[in-house]
Amino acid sequence: MLFKSNGPALLPPPDDLTIPQFMLDSFHPARPVREDHSPWLIDDQSGKSYHYEQIRMRVHGLANGLTSRWHLKNDDVVCIYSPNNIEYPIAIWACHRIGAIVSGANPSYTVDELVYQLKTSRATILITHPVSLPVAREAARITGLSPSNIILLEPTSSGRQEFAFIEELATEGLTFPKSLYVEPRLRSGEGKTKIAFLSFSSGTTGSPKAVAIPHYAPISNVLQMATYQEVNQYQKPREKRRFRPGDVCIAVLPFYHIYGLVVNLHWMIFSGLSIVVVPKFNFIEMLKSIERHKITHLMLVPPQIVLLCKQPETRKYDLSRLRYCMVGAAPLSAELSLQFEKLLPNVVLAQGYGMTETSTTVTMLPSTEPRGIAGCAGRLISGTEAKVLKPDGSLAGYDEEGELMVKGPQNALRYQNNEKATKETFIDGWVRTGDEVLIKENGNVYIVDRLKEIFKVRGFQVAPAELEGHLLEHPDVADCAVIGVPDEYSGDVPLAFVTLTGDAAKRVKENPAEGDRIKASIKKHVSDVKVKYKWLEGGVEFIDAIPKNPSGKLLRRLLRDQAKAIIAKR
Ligand code: AMP
Repeated sequence: MLFKSNGPALLPPPDDLTIPQFMLDSFHPARPVREDHSPWLIDDQSGKSYHYEQIRMRVHGLANGLTSRWHLKNDDVVCIYSPNNIEYPIAIWACHRIGAIVSGANPSYTVDELVYQLKTSRATILITHPVSLPVAREAARITGLSPSNIILLEPTSSGRQEFAFIEELATEGLTFPKSLYVEPRLRSGEGKTKIAFLSFSSGTTGSPKAVAIPHYAPISNVLQMATYQEVNQYQKPREKRRFRPGDVCIAVLPFYHIYGLVVNLHWMIFSGLSIVVVPKFNFIEMLKSIERHKITHLMLVPPQIVLLCKQPETRKYDLSRLRYCMVGAAPLSAELSLQFEKLLPNVVLAQGYGMTETSTTVTMLPSTEPRGIAGCAGRLISGTEAKVLKPDGSLAGYDEEGELMVKGPQNALRYQNNEKATKETFIDGWVRTGDEVLIKENGNVYIVDRLKEIFKVRGFQVAPAELEGHLLEHPDVADCAVIGVPDEYSGDVPLAFVTLTGDAAKRVKENPAEGDRIKASIKKHVSDVKVKYKWLEGGVEFIDAIPKNPSGKLLRRLLRDQAKAIIAKR
């Protein structure tokens, strides 16, 4: 059967606006009027803040600066490689003003990983932060990007400024008497194809790919969530609204990831909240910020819920203003939800589910539910349709498990420059999720399992294909397979099954201590060049042969069962 959202009807999202035109220049009826003069962005540490007018001016100034100095133009790609920062959204919207495309990169990426993203996205400008500069510089050098194409979000603390920075560019840009850039004016429907972001995701299989997200998709997703959550609840008494004037949301989720970008940043600003921007997540610091900024709304991933529930520090801070906590990006167990509700009974724990390929949200807790539903990922948000494919290819009905397919205005277009992967995931207007789900008659969606090979470590995607390709470069590895094994805090951690080369196997046979040396060396081979969440925290296991079907496809399920037995013995 075809599952449809049972939420309020979605007004057709504007398909002729860019994201800054939607966020900064227009007023949509689903948007609450800001009754107060609260800032849009607040820097967590310094308290520096930007209000709407300042942001709009700064975006214009920066767009001018980017045009005058770099001749940045329509469809150029700008990579932002930085921790969260209050200049980050300004940089995004300034690029969009010019018609450029933004590709956010994980600020913890190593040189190799950033090089991969720069090359795959074909970025010509790299915006970074002083803390990320050494890696950014080296990656730029390798990809042949001139150092003069590096721009900093903030000036360096050491005197002379070698690189241009946002403040300087925005100020300089405001001195020009008129716009130097030609802002795209989209024809009706053009927002559906004009690319705003190239966000990286592995999808169901293979290495990370650039997901082409048009302006229309995040705009739609913001409106879908706002409609579904009845953000504009003027008819309700103030104290009954989920979003009220003066509410403050923390942004510990990274803006380079679709959840941080669309939900935490754009949706929260659209909903009238102030965003406290945190560069790097640290649990105790987050508790302090919640108290200091009187945070009302949290956007988190499951490991952060684990910390809130298990760490005694949670009780030492004043969290009494909190009312709403959205959690997503990875599975959240029913037990953990219940623990959270016991600990913070006045906070609604709202689980959501989504993916980069759907420019985030597909399901979330409806506003009609006064409490979170343990183990449930919510219901289809307004304007979203779903199909559930059973293993035999037929369509599932209520209470039947199968692979979730999603259709809605939030769907991304394709994997950029990757036709093969596009065909496997973007099928006739549907996005194939690779997630096994079950939908109940009342619309509740339960994420049952993961059918795809990628897995999540602390909410971050790990693509086995990427690690396997790298492991095969180790001199002792003849064949390998990487799987995720369960971990209470991280959700999953990577474990590598390795078949040794003949020579390595012989050495291990002659001297068993050699086995431990090789394992350590394989782990180091990964930790030397990959970001921390990809490290082989689940260990390395030797195996005679990697199980494969006759056509050579890895039998990951068999390995997962084997891993379970190994872990039980540890
Ligand atoms: P990403 O593109 O990095 O956001 O990853 C998307 C994937 O994260 C989904 O396809 C799911 O496998 C997983 N995911 C997201 N939200 C949830 C959730 N609430 N429960 C279980 N898995 C989730």
